[in-house]
Amino acid sequence: MAIGEFSERSGLTPKRLRSYATAGLLVPAAVDASSGYRYYAPAQLHDARVIDALRRAEVPVAEIGDLLRDPSPGRLDAWARRIEVDTTERRAAIRDARALLDIDAGGPPMRAASPAEERRTMNLVTAARSDVGRVRTSNQDRALCLDRVVMVADGLGASPGGETASALAAAVVEAVFSRGSVEELEAAVRAANTAVFERAGADEQLDGMGTTLCAAGLTAEGDLAVVHVGDSRVYRVHDGAVERLTTDHSVVAEMIRRGELTEEESLAHEQRAVLTRAIGVGPTVEVDSAVHRVAAGDRLLLCSDGLFTEVPEERMRSLVDEADDLDAAAQALVDEALANGARDNVTVVLAEITG
Ligand code: MN
Repeated sequence: MAIGEFSERSGLTPKRLRSYATAGLLVPAAVDASSGYRYYAPAQLHDARVIDALRRAEVPVAEIGDLLRDPSPGRLDAWARRIEVDTTERRAAIRDARALLDIDAGGPPMRAASPAEERRTMNLVTAARSDVGRVRTSNQDRALCLDRVVMVADGLGASPGGETASALAAAVVEAVFSRGSVEELEAAVRAANTAVFERAGADEQLDGMGTTLCAAGLTAEGDLAVVHVGDSRVYRVHDGAVERLTTDHSVVAEMIRRGELTEEESLAHEQRAVLTRAIGVGPTVEVDSAVHRVAAGDRLLLCSDGLFTEVPEERMRSLVDEADDLDAAAQALVDEALANGARDNVTVVLAEITG
């Protein structure tokens, strides 16, 4: 078919088609020797769409050629990761520039357009407490509280590895989560994994570090996106009832699922802190994610295992549900963990959905 028809059917302008031909990516099936007119084969439509999608993802032309010759998922995965890391680094750079210029964060977005307006209606009012506990010498937990996303990370590995991993994970989530979608929150977790893994490999002192990560963020549609890796938890209190929104990635959680252990027994089990998944211990990570409908007035409780191994869930529910003041409730939860022994770092984030 002639270039005009091919252009129409592929949705690509003749100019763009000529640039792909020049790059050697999509060479016309025939060119009229006298008029220079280009003709494409119908089978080339598919390639044209693939090339266009990859160009929109800003994959360099040379790599698109490689990918067309060898369309393996590994190449696409590598690109997806590179985009996440680039995005993280660019957001961090913008944040640095903002700080240097002393421009307030949370100012009007560059496009003051539609989705941003809608999601302004819902927000999070938050409170957080973190305590080293009664036994540990360093606090490797980290909490993050922003208007639209909250998170808890519980670092693993000898100091300073654990606290570096949890702090790095929080920085990545803060930098990545902006537009508000579950996909973005998942991407943030994968970017955090890459960041922690690469940092651990680059610094002997940090070798073997990792972290748990649980986060809850409001989406542009006003739903709640929840992601997690490891055994830090997200609970929701709605209408006086508590619901756990995450499933621990731990050895004892699997034993409970297999019926070999009760919840109660798991809290005292010697392997209670052994995780089956964590951020930063491998080049990739499997992320659990879900989207929940929420209502104004719902309260969220995010915590590290240092809370739920010391404070019963029913007690957590009543302290959160009956609190007039989230700040006081967060303190009361930590105080109760301390009173019960606090064998580990204890971190609590409370958030109420307003709107
Ligand atoms: Mn812990």
